[in-house]
Order: sequence, then structure tokens, then C-alpha cells
Amino acid sequence: MRIDIITIFPELFKPFLQFGIIKKACEKNAVDIQTFDLRNYATDKHQMVDDYPYGGGPGMVLKPEPIWRALDELPHPRRVVFLTPQGQTFDQEKAWELSQEKNLALICGRYEGIDERVREKLVDEEISIGDYVLNGGEVPAMVIMEAVIRLLPDVLGDEDSVVGDSFYQGLLDHPHYTRPEEFKGQRVPQVLLSGDHKKIANWRKKERLRQTLLKRPDLLKKANLDSE
Ligand code: SAM
Repeated sequence: MRIDIITIFPELFKPFLQFGIIKKACEKNAVDIQTFDLRNYATDKHQMVDDYPYGGGPGMVLKPEPIWRALDELPHPRRVVFLTPQGQTFDQEKAWELSQEKNLALICGRYEGIDERVREKLVDEEISIGDYVLNGGEVPAMVIMEAVIRLLPDVLGDEDSVVGDSFYQGLLDHPHYTRPEEFKGQRVPQVLLSGDHKKIANWRKKERLRQTLLKRPDLLKKANLDSE
């Protein structure tokens, strides 16, 4: 999969790409991530990427030409996503959907956002990471990339497989414990020390249901549960 990011702050992505699973995914060529500095696509000598809003009012707007020219360089077919608080709220289902794309382009807004004509002509989809307003689309782009890249084939090893993660099969994950067996008077549930794989699997299944019922009962209504 290839992910292209259009931003005025490409430097923000450098540390993000240099650690953990994202770094490994790039090294394994599971994903090719490219950043495009909007200033390199400005059309005037001052490399202006923003301008005053028509009609007046506070803030600046990202100009249409640099975004248009940057997008011109990206491969086809592609899905062009604009990160905006006005978009559809991102969730695990959307992460699965985006993970099927060959080429994904993420446009990071800043200031008051981008010129409406780019939204209308070049953007396939608008995505929000939640009902709050951030300063720019760079953190939302990272959120989406983290969620999508871990779903790509061969990115996660068995030890951190996505099966059993929250939202997989519509339920939350079960609780996890590691050593020591006792911590400040609290013991690890006995069943997890029993070595009985069937009992452990049952306990985990029950806990996934219990956690979901306690924390997100809304999910249970949609969950694909079997008769057991
Ligand atoms: N005036 C815009 C509005 O109210 O819809 C908000 C602009 S915001 C200060 C600047 C940029 O940050 C947006 O263009 C968008 O790219 C990004 N952004 C802010 N909050 C976001 C969110 N919740 N989800 C995705 N992107 C967001």
C-alpha cells in the first residue's frame, strides 16, 4: 500500500515513521509513505500556501493551486481523503476499508481549512477523528495511518495480532495480565495460571462480553454473536 500525505509540516511525520510497527512496516515494504510539502507546490516566489478568506473574517485558508499541483503528482487510482472535523467519524470499520486501498492520499488542513473548490473537485471523502477541533490534519493523518497500517498483511506478528483486539467481531478486548502473579495484593485470575487452554479461552470470551456490556453496551446490539 502507498500512503501520500499532503501537509505544510512534513517534518512532523519524521519521528512518527522512525519507530515501532510503522518503521517495521516501511522496512518490510508493506507500506510506502511519502510526504509532500505543500510549499514546494506554491505558484508564487514567496511560496505562499495560504491567503485571506474572501468575505473577510479571522484566519487564513489553504490555497487551491498548491494542493491541486501536489495531487497531480500522486499515482492513480487513488482515494483522496481530506481530514476535517466535518467528516465522517473514523472507526475500525473505516480502517479496514482504507487498508484495502492501493493508493491513499491524505490532505492535512491548517488554519481555517482548505479552499472549498479543492474539496468539491478533488476530495473523495472527508474523515474526522472525533468531534473536537485540532490545529491541523497531521495528527489525524497519523491516527488513521496507525490504525490502517497495523491491519496490512504481514505487519503484525502473532504476538500482537489484530484478532481479539477491541472492535474485532464487534466486542471489546478481554483484560490482560503479566508478571508478577501478585501485585500490591492483587492476584492474577487463577484460570490464567491453570494451563487449561479451553478454560482460558472461555474466560476470555466471557470477559470480552462483560467488558463490552460494562463499557460499551451500544456495541453489543450490533455484535455478531453466536448462540453460545
Ligand atoms: N474551521 C474548520 C472547521 O471548523 O471545520 C476547522 C479548521 S482546523 C483549526 C484546521 C485543520 O485541522 C482542518 O482543516 C483539518 O484538516 C484539521 N482538523 C481539525 N480537527 C480535526 C478533526 N477532528 N478530525 C480531522 N481533522 C481535523
